[in-house]
Amino acid sequence: MKHFKDEICKQIYGITLTEAHEEKICVCCHKPVVIENLLELDAKEYQISGLCPVGWEKTFPKKEPK
Ligand SMILES: [Zn+2]
Repeated sequence: MKHFKDEICKQIYGITLTEAHEEKICVCCHKPVVIENLLELDAKEYQISGLCPVGWEKTFPKKEPK
């Protein structure tokens, strides 16, 4: 399962999820991610998908306007 995710990440972003987590960077923008500075939900998201909040929004734009 982990390998599967890594493969997808590698294909889309050129970096695996494992690499991103090891280097503490975001898979999409390759910018450093400081998990302590994130909201709890965003931190969880980063641990699952390797995406920073910005990248997350780019990848899955919220449809409903607030
Ligand atoms: Zn990002």
